[in-house]
Amino acid sequence: MKRRVLESTASLKETMAGYYLELGQAAATKSAPVAWCTSTGPVEILRALGYKVHFPENHSSMMGAARTANDYMTRAHARGYSQDICSYLTADIGAFLAGETPFSVFGIEEVPKPDVLVFNTNQCRDVRDWYEFFGRTWNVPVIGIESPHMIEAVTEVQVDAIASQMEALVPPLEEIAGTRLTSDRFGKILNLSKECVDLWKSCLGMATHQPSPLTFFDGTIHMGPVVTMRGMREANEYYRLFQSELQKRVDDGVAAVAGERFRLYWEGMPIWGKLRELSELFAALATTIVASTYCNSWIFDALDADDPFRSMARASLELFIVRSEAPKESYIERVVREFSVDGIVFHDSRTCATNSNCRYGMPERLRERLDIPVITIEGDQIDLRCYSSEQTRTSLEGFIEQLEDRSHASRGADG
Ligand code: SF4
Repeated sequence: MKRRVLESTASLKETMAGYYLELGQAAATKSAPVAWCTSTGPVEILRALGYKVHFPENHSSMMGAARTANDYMTRAHARGYSQDICSYLTADIGAFLAGETPFSVFGIEEVPKPDVLVFNTNQCRDVRDWYEFFGRTWNVPVIGIESPHMIEAVTEVQVDAIASQMEALVPPLEEIAGTRLTSDRFGKILNLSKECVDLWKSCLGMATHQPSPLTFFDGTIHMGPVVTMRGMREANEYYRLFQSELQKRVDDGVAAVAGERFRLYWEGMPIWGKLRELSELFAALATTIVASTYCNSWIFDALDADDPFRSMARASLELFIVRSEAPKESYIERVVREFSVDGIVFHDSRTCATNSNCRYGMPERLRERLDIPVITIEGDQIDLRCYSSEQTRTSLEGFIEQLEDRSHASRGADG
């Protein structure tokens, strides 16, 4: 069975190309200040100050999808960056050392050189180490937010602490940009950003329908704008188009995976170099991955233009990746029920400990708590040395057989 490609993919490519070209031009001509930002970092402050924003994680995922990442990592390893730390980091530094970038497909021959690098360690420490390499290399400032982790319940004290750190970023960012942050501009960008994440949430929510009009694999492709273009009108225009295509699929009963039999949750990083292979495997098994922690990570419900810093701080702290095991498990339980999920696939990513939630007993606890099958597969977001196609195929086929057996058993019990 074939996976069905969404027609709005052509517009997505145009939207993303427009973003990359604008960024590349700003870096080349110095027509606007350029900032690097972590994927869940304070991009709204940057955009309100006129920065063009580059997201190194997006850059690395492009190398992963193109399966070129492994060509570069060894250069970073030779500089002392371990094979066990984030492969996004080692591929990105390695590509820089090789003088190459996946942006060359857009005619951009070098990675956009920043005027400032802005991190938020809410996701991991690696992002800071990553930016500090480039800060040292180019002698540009590295500033950011130091976040707590393993948060059980987000408290007002924590929100205030992160909001203060965000406010403290403003004076240096204003100085570098040569302009002042106005509340009017900041509010407009926050409203655009909130609209963007709400549209994204609504698109992902379409997968509650049976059959689902989209899969996790579609989500990983169509998430480009919500990751890199929050606060830009073009992202919202794109998601309105995407949303209407998904709605049409729902109205017409068109499934992303023909003959959908099983619905799964994906927990952990995507395996960028194997998206097509895995999406075809699941399509052949008539199984749709209908929800994931990863795609949901760019839903920031808390954003509010009336309370910009505190709402951004709350959004940063409410993220799944920042939370302790109990709220993570409750979150997955809620999504499993809402999306009528039959089983969970955990991806144990070799070089991303913070996005591998299978290492402290969570799969076993959820199996028991939700009474559904759970499987863990081994891999990495982009380091394909950590991934075996054959082993994964065998494991997933066995997992689907398990779902079939359960389904037969429950039909037998019903009959
Ligand atoms: S969250 Fe994982 S993949 Fe992302 S930057 Fe951190 S270590 Fe790398």
